[in-house]
Amino acid sequence: MDDSCSHIDAISSIKQPQRRECEECVKIGATWVHLRTCQKCGVTLCCDSSPNQHASRHARDAGHPVIASAQSGERWLYCYLDETLVQY
Ligand SMILES: [Zn+2]
Ligand SMILES: [Zn+2]
Ligand SMILES: [Zn+2]
Repeated sequence: MDDSCSHIDAISSIKQPQRRECEECVKIGATWVHLRTCQKCGVTLCCDSSPNQHASRHARDAGHPVIASAQSGERWLYCYLDETLVQY
């Protein structure tokens, strides 16, 4: 992990999505584009291309900066604070 940050370095095992849906969008009947899984609490939320951007809102509100892509075939982590993207 070359261009990593302290938040990503602190992650030893990657949390995978329990369900492939945004928990918050399901509640309000909204749709999403891509899914991201919070690496602190494991919640799966929608990406910044989605209308509600629940993942970045969660990162800000809960103070959980690191997410992993929950798209099948995508293997990367992202830190919202440092804007670091790391493949794994
Ligand atoms: Zn970071
Ligand atoms: Zn959402
Ligand atoms: Zn979280």
